[in-house]
Amino acid sequence: MTAFQRHILPHVTSRYDVQEVRTSADEGGLLEVDYEWDRVRVPRSLREFEARWANRRNPLDYSGVWRFRELLPFAPDSQIVTIGEGQTVLQRSDECGKYVGMNAGGLYLQYEGMNPSGSFKDNGMTAASTHARMVGAKIAACASTGNTSASLAIYGSTSGLFRVVVFVGSGKIAFGKLSQALDYGALTVQIEGDFDDALARVREVCPEVGIYLCNSVNPFRLEGQKTIMYRVLEGLDWQPPDWIVVPGGNLGNSSAFGKAFAELKQLGLIDRIPRLAVINADGANTLYQLYDRQGLRWNGGKPDIAAIDRFYHVMDAEKRKADTLASAIQINRPVSLLKCLRALETCDGVVREVSDQAILDAKAKVGACGFGCEPASGASVAGAKLLREQGIIAPSDRVVCILTGHQLKDPDATVGYHSAKPGSIDPKLAAHGVMKVQFGNRPVPVANNVDQIIDLLRKFAG
Ligand SMILES: *Cc1c(COP(=O)(O)O)cnc(C)c1O
Repeated sequence: MTAFQRHILPHVTSRYDVQEVRTSADEGGLLEVDYEWDRVRVPRSLREFEARWANRRNPLDYSGVWRFRELLPFAPDSQIVTIGEGQTVLQRSDECGKYVGMNAGGLYLQYEGMNPSGSFKDNGMTAASTHARMVGAKIAACASTGNTSASLAIYGSTSGLFRVVVFVGSGKIAFGKLSQALDYGALTVQIEGDFDDALARVREVCPEVGIYLCNSVNPFRLEGQKTIMYRVLEGLDWQPPDWIVVPGGNLGNSSAFGKAFAELKQLGLIDRIPRLAVINADGANTLYQLYDRQGLRWNGGKPDIAAIDRFYHVMDAEKRKADTLASAIQINRPVSLLKCLRALETCDGVVREVSDQAILDAKAKVGACGFGCEPASGASVAGAKLLREQGIIAPSDRVVCILTGHQLKDPDATVGYHSAKPGSIDPKLAAHGVMKVQFGNRPVPVANNVDQIIDLLRKFAG
């Protein structure tokens, strides 16, 4: 094989075979998958991938992840586990663009909610499942705010290759997501605590009982998530946009995007790298605090680790817990922090925080434009709007916002927002600082009476 696992810090030379099951290096720290590119057959132009569009009967060519398999060549074709993930498209949305402040043709939405389990996580889970199969794993596990568990559970149930255990924080998971893990038959363990607690425990127990871990400390997941960027390029006739805007939770996605672009540039397949904007919720803003407020940088592979330790020390001393309605990004200890710092360096990136109010307003706007997404995804559009207002994004730029999860994942947030009346906001929203709904669409009660219904419709028709 031409693929191997290596330590993310360039001065640590540890290197492991792809067949090894690891979630960290011997000396600690994150691993990533790397390739000996000069020994891999890579297309000379991204356009060469287009030949696969006509080949719907080959599951590997049909998959929106594996049709780019030469760019994540860690598995033999015979081992690949696919359920047709990645059939997602880039949608131009001028209406949403107007809200953000863009010129016509300036805003695009990459709707990853259209994946089999309803979130972008499937892009990564197909790759982790493939690796699990390569190493003969019988049980796979993850901690999750919801979507990772839904995704792992669907890959376990459809492939039948391994059984699935998911760890969720108690009371912290949106019902759409919980219902998926249950329906797909995963052993669902509710830990007393939040996501950060659940991840810490699952990392401790998996090696003890020989369970394959599928959180994004698993470097193979990020390989699959690179393909979201390949599809964005595909949607733009292989021309890089000016900006990619993505919500930041555990920071696996932003890290994968940076790796995708660094590799494409290295391989001569693109000549320009888009800028990256990672958007935190202001109630879960570790990256924003460290990168934007404290100026922490990747620094060519020598980040100030002591500054990160100090930050977490204070966070623990003050007992600060992540708190946002955007449950998918309610994370205070982002596991891929260092990888994300590197992505921000690769992509000349920026980090912003947005309020839950801004997130839910942007989410409603996305819905009204015809797509719909879960709250965390709304952060990307809210973040683009903020960067536009700050003059960092220009109206003439081409901006791609990633809609990470499907609208139906978290119906409570949506119905709560739309049902609000002036002076009576859902207490759960109000507790998160959501004080008014800009784009509410309340259900209208009417008597079971033809005349009254006709009256109502006449008013609607104007
Ligand atoms: C997981 C998730 C995120 C956060 O992505 P990270 O890679 O953890 O930063 C954002 N939105 C949705 C819908 C998610 O499921």
